[in-house]
Amino acid sequence: MDKKLIGVDLGGTTTKFAIVNLQGNVQQRWSIQTNVLENGNQIIPDIISSINHHLAMYQLPAEQILGIGIGTPGSVDYKTGSVASAYNLSWDHRVAVKEQLEAATKIPVLVENDANVAALGERWQGAGNNAANVVFVTLGTGVGGGIITHGQIVHGHGGSAGEIGHMIIEPSGYRCTCGNQGCLETVASATGIVHVARDAAQEYAGDSALKALLDDGQNITAKDVFDLAKQNDVLALHVVNHVCNQLGLAFSIIGVTLNPQYIVIGGGVSNAGDFLLDRVQQAFEKYAFADIGHTTTLKLATLGNEAGVIGAASLVLDK
Ligand SMILES: [Zn+2]
Repeated sequence: MDKKLIGVDLGGTTTKFAIVNLQGNVQQRWSIQTNVLENGNQIIPDIISSINHHLAMYQLPAEQILGIGIGTPGSVDYKTGSVASAYNLSWDHRVAVKEQLEAATKIPVLVENDANVAALGERWQGAGNNAANVVFVTLGTGVGGGIITHGQIVHGHGGSAGEIGHMIIEPSGYRCTCGNQGCLETVASATGIVHVARDAAQEYAGDSALKALLDDGQNITAKDVFDLAKQNDVLALHVVNHVCNQLGLAFSIIGVTLNPQYIVIGGGVSNAGDFLLDRVQQAFEKYAFADIGHTTTLKLATLGNEAGVIGAASLVLDK
């Protein structure tokens, strides 16, 4: 019998599951709502019953499952596989994720931070080409990251390595949710891009559909900014060019620190595609130390939402 892997991507609104073969192909996928009521006390029992239900349905005995990998928000204790202070799961207490799941499924469980599992997924089956040295940066509501060197996720001494969103690129820039000022995520996340656009509109007196929308009090999204820039809206182009410049700067710092083979850009903002990538590439080449510019390649992510479950499943192979 072929052994299988289970990948779980635990998020604040939904929890995604996949049964994956050893080659990394997703064979079954499903998802459930994440119940964050009552301090998130139902989250782990719900995951357990969903896994057991699907294993029974697909007639897969526990012995056929090599392991369960799970990506979770919050800070992971890698020694015990427990999770502390995951605010979007309403976990204000330490949760013994590994211990509870293993007791109820009789299958080995590995726990990892959600940004890191997305990095592992893109590295294994996506834009990372299974290379040994890959950095993944996700541009979503915030900016997250995962660093893989020599095929291993870098956790760092205190477990905070790869917090690329909190790299300070504008020391007197916007205040960040982390308390610092000018973090990458304050300009390059979906919310950051809108913030940059609002401020730029205040300073701009020329013709611009973006400015007209903002002056009219409309809610805009990062996608609106990119769509208008693609239509040559002067203000939107200015905003996009600024955001891409700051991303290129951040990537040049990542490049000179780690010299990965690939820096992979994912998350909702990356749906802007080559329009984004080309501009980030230009800025990266401007700032990057010459050898880095020649050996580190910027790419767009290819797996979308599936990176998390695939990367989570891959934890089992790395253990
Ligand atoms: Zn920050």
